[in-house]
This record gives sequence, C-alpha cells and structure tokens, in this order.
Amino acid sequence: SLDAVIIGAGISGMYMLHRLRGLGLKARVYEAGSDIGGTWFWNRYPGARVDIESQEYSYSFSEELEREWKWSERYAAQPEILRYLNHVADRFDLRPDIQFNTRIASAHFDETKGRWALATDDGETLDAKFCIAATGCLSVPNEPNFKGQETFKGATYHTGRWPHEGVDLTGKRVAVIGTGSSAIQSIPQIAKQAAQVYVFQRTPNYSVPAHNGPISPIVAEAWLANRDENRQLQRMSSAGFLFSNHREELATQVGDNERRQVFEERWAQGGFSVQAAFADLAVDPVANGMAADFAASKIREIVKDPAVADRLTPKDYPFGTKRLCVDTGYYEVFNQPNVELIDLREAPLDTITATGVKTAEGDYAVDVIVFAIGFDAMTGALSRIDIQGRGGAALTDAWSEGPKSYLGLMVAGFPNLFTVTGPGSPSVLSNMIVSIEQHVDWLADLMGFMTLNGLATIEPTADSQNAWVDHVNEAANHTLYPVANSWYLGANVPGKPRVFMPYIGGVGAYRTLCDAVAANGYMGFKLRPAA
Ligand code: NAP
Repeated sequence: SLDAVIIGAGISGMYMLHRLRGLGLKARVYEAGSDIGGTWFWNRYPGARVDIESQEYSYSFSEELEREWKWSERYAAQPEILRYLNHVADRFDLRPDIQFNTRIASAHFDETKGRWALATDDGETLDAKFCIAATGCLSVPNEPNFKGQETFKGATYHTGRWPHEGVDLTGKRVAVIGTGSSAIQSIPQIAKQAAQVYVFQRTPNYSVPAHNGPISPIVAEAWLANRDENRQLQRMSSAGFLFSNHREELATQVGDNERRQVFEERWAQGGFSVQAAFADLAVDPVANGMAADFAASKIREIVKDPAVADRLTPKDYPFGTKRLCVDTGYYEVFNQPNVELIDLREAPLDTITATGVKTAEGDYAVDVIVFAIGFDAMTGALSRIDIQGRGGAALTDAWSEGPKSYLGLMVAGFPNLFTVTGPGSPSVLSNMIVSIEQHVDWLADLMGFMTLNGLATIEPTADSQNAWVDHVNEAANHTLYPVANSWYLGANVPGKPRVFMPYIGGVGAYRTLCDAVAANGYMGFKLRPAA
C-alpha cells in the first residue's frame, strides 16, 4: 500500500516523488496531463518563457544536475524548460511512479484508518497515509464566459491550454483578450505572424523589458563558481532570487536625478530589478507613485502614438501590486501598423459574434480569438477536487471565506494533507522553484520524522492556524498590494472571496520561521501516535 499520493507532476510533484523515494517511502504521482511539467506542460503559447533568470529558475537539490545542464538564454523559453524537466524526470527515473492522464476527483480522510481514500476520475480508488497537493498555483485556467462566444465560427485558444502542435497564425486576423503576463509575452510573437492583431485591454499592466538573449558565459560561470553561496542567498532572500538585488535606500529620500538614474539602470538591467530599486516602493504611496511615473515615462518614450501610450499606462492601482510583467517588445508592438489596442474601459466588450468581437463602439472581424484571461489562482485546483477532512468537512466550506492554513502548508481539520506552495506561503510572490524546494524539503523531512517515530497523523491546531491567517493578512496590509484588484486577492474570479492569499513576509524570513517550527517539535501542530 502507498505511503503517499502526490497530486500533480509539475516541478513540485516531481521533486516530492524524488525526496520521498529517498526516504524509502512508497509514493505515487497522479497527473491529469499526458506528461510531466505542470505549468510548462500546459502553457505553450508563443513567447512563453520564464521571467526569472534561467539559472535561478532551476532545481538546486542536485549539484550534478545543476552542473550538467546548460541554459541557452537569459530567460529560457517554454520548450527549453520543458526539455529540462524531462531531463530531470529521466535522470531520476521518475516516470515509473507517475500515472498520467489521471485526474484525482476526490480525497476523503478516513478517521478510523487515519488514511486518505482517493478516487480518480475514471473510478480507480487508492489510499495512502499522506496526501500531497502539488497542484500548482496557476493551473486552472479561467474559462471564457462571454456573451455569444458559442456562435463564433473561427478558432479559439486559451493561453493556458495552448495546443501542443502549435498554431499557425500566418495571415490571420487575431483578437487577444487580456493584457496580463501571458498576453504581454504572446502578443509580440503573434503580431509577427498575424495580418492583424486586436488587443482587448480591460486593465493595463506594468511591464519591464526582459532584455533577453543568449546567456552570457560569464554570468553562467560566475553562478556555478559560487553555486552554494548563491543558492543560500536565494533561499534567504526576500523573493527567492538574487538578480533583483534590493536596495535599502528610500525613493523619497534621494534626489530626483539620483532616483531617475537608479530607475534607468534597473530598466536597462531588466526584469524584476525595477521593483527592488528602493525599499519603500511597495509600502509608501508617494514612493510608489515615483516608480509609476517612471514607468509611464518609459511607455511614452517607446509608444509613438501618445493616445495609445496613455491607454497603456496603468492609472488605478500602485506600481507592482499586480504581478509585474517582463516582456520582449511589448510596448514596441503597438508601433506596428498591424496591431491595434482596444480599451474596454472606454468601450466595454459587448458580445462575441459569429465573425468576431463587438464592443460598445466597434465590430472587429477576426479569424482567431486568443483568451489570455488568466487563472483561478492559488485555490482553483484544490477547490475542484472533492476534499473532505475530519467529520466529512469539505475544504471548500473551510475556505468559503478565503483560504485558511497554517504556514500555507496544512489546514486545520485535514490531517496529513499537505499543500505545496499553498495559500498563506510566499509562493507566487517568489521564485516558485525556490519556494517549491523549501516546502518539499520541509514536508519530506516531516514525513520522514513521522515514519521514524511511529506517528500516525499531523494537523495544525485551530489556534495556530488563526494566528497565521491574521499574520498573513497583517503582513499584506502593511503594503499597497491589497489596493489592486489582482488575482492575488481572487479579484479576477467573480464571487471569489477577496482575501490576499500569498504570504508577503519574504522567502528568507518565512524559511527561518518554518525551520524554527520544525526544530521546536512542530510547534503549532498536533502529532498523534498510531492507535
Ligand atoms: P492575468 O494576469 O490574470 O491576466 C488576465 C488578463 O485578462 C487581465 O488583463 C484581465 O483583465 C483580462 N481579463 C480577464 N477576464 C476578462 C474579461 N472577462 N474581459 C476582458 N478582459 C479580461 O493572467 P495571465 O496573463 O495568464 O498571468 C497570470 C500569472 O501567471 C501572472 O501574473 C504570472 O504570475 C504567471 N505568468 C508568468 C509568466 C512569466 O513571465 N513567466 C507568463 C505568464 C503568466 P483585468 O486585469 O481587468 O482583470
């Protein structure tokens, strides 16, 4: 019989399987897709690439793995990342313990046995002592729900479910709905092929250039030369990566020229470094406004038509409080004659017709519609599994007012159920792979500890969970993040409770806390011996 069921064969599930095998536990992974890779298996839209430098966005658990794999670009594209993950799966021989094309439909905790009873969507039943949700934070795409969409005669695609064989858009008229990271990465690529691209924007996003290119051998060698130290710095950093190097100065306490120069340097460096230019950007509206003004000035510099530049400039939320985008030629694409920006704030989307997209002001005939409308983030995957804990209580009920957890790792009343990068942990506010390894290691150590010590169950106390939920909220409320209508708060899904889901206290501080909890006998958790 199984010690552990792992749901999902993305970066989390793969590493969890490897760790549990190392402990001598019998684990099996169930994956809805036909192969490994999670996010990088599904998101194959043109231009999909990582927004953290490649060598930082890679597993650290095996030094040999790290030394043998060579990244080709500063920000690796999806096909290269998927090749890397396939290499990992082969190298550690993971596939024999992964069952593909299988979705876990339900997971019920059996209190008499102290085990999880699970069922797949094709009726297979299984049970295990531990149930690990390695289900991803952005794995359930929002389904388009536009009036008239069923009448559309052309082809439609969701960026999060892009066809594996690719899509030839040569000469096509394409509508892209949405202007989040997926859209911002794909639009410049789509515009290279398509005859005409209409970008339907509801809310403009801030985006900084990636300055992508071949990875510099100097950077790659320097990273490896100081590998252990770099990895340690990552783990103890605020966001799980080094290249953003946070500065301690406040934007409000330096002169205009110096501030502008710092922002310019960061913009030239690319990626998230702009967000880390000053220590007060995320907390002080005045400092944040300075970053917003700088970003607006860059948009005006790049986009030739001042009216278009103005529409592309965010005005109703602070800089960086919706996930910052990292682009290659996004603002520039609006200088192309075949790209048109349609502002849905000026003329709301009315219907999708047989021939295209209709707004209050115009009718746009297209052959293809690309829905880049995002995900039911952080809780979406878990809420789609029928999960029942003690007394048959449903997780969806426990989370009806927003997700509640202790450390983002476990939920009171759901013994031996673990959420890798769950809500209440740094997760999406960090370099995911660093946070994934931290959670997997902490949880694997815990499962090893329980096995060695003959412990049957673990669960958080209600008190420790309540205190953690309060702390997560307090941390968010110290910042400007809750001001924006972002998916961090579930604001993109109608009816979803408005709760800031990730923990903003920082990756390093959070790791220290988790380690202290473990070192103090899993403080805040109840551990029970076998009956
Ligand atoms: P997203 O950030 O949620 O963006 C969805 C876009 O669709 C938003 O512009 C949204 O507008 C728009 N939208 C949603 N429903 C709409 C409707 N009914 N009518 C009109 N517009 C609508 O989703 P995403 O771009 O897929 O990105 C999600 C997250 O995935 C990112 O924030 C990031 O964390 C991750 N990601 C990372 C990368 C990367 O660079 N490595 C790439 C892609 C995604 P509103 O803002 O008005 O809601």
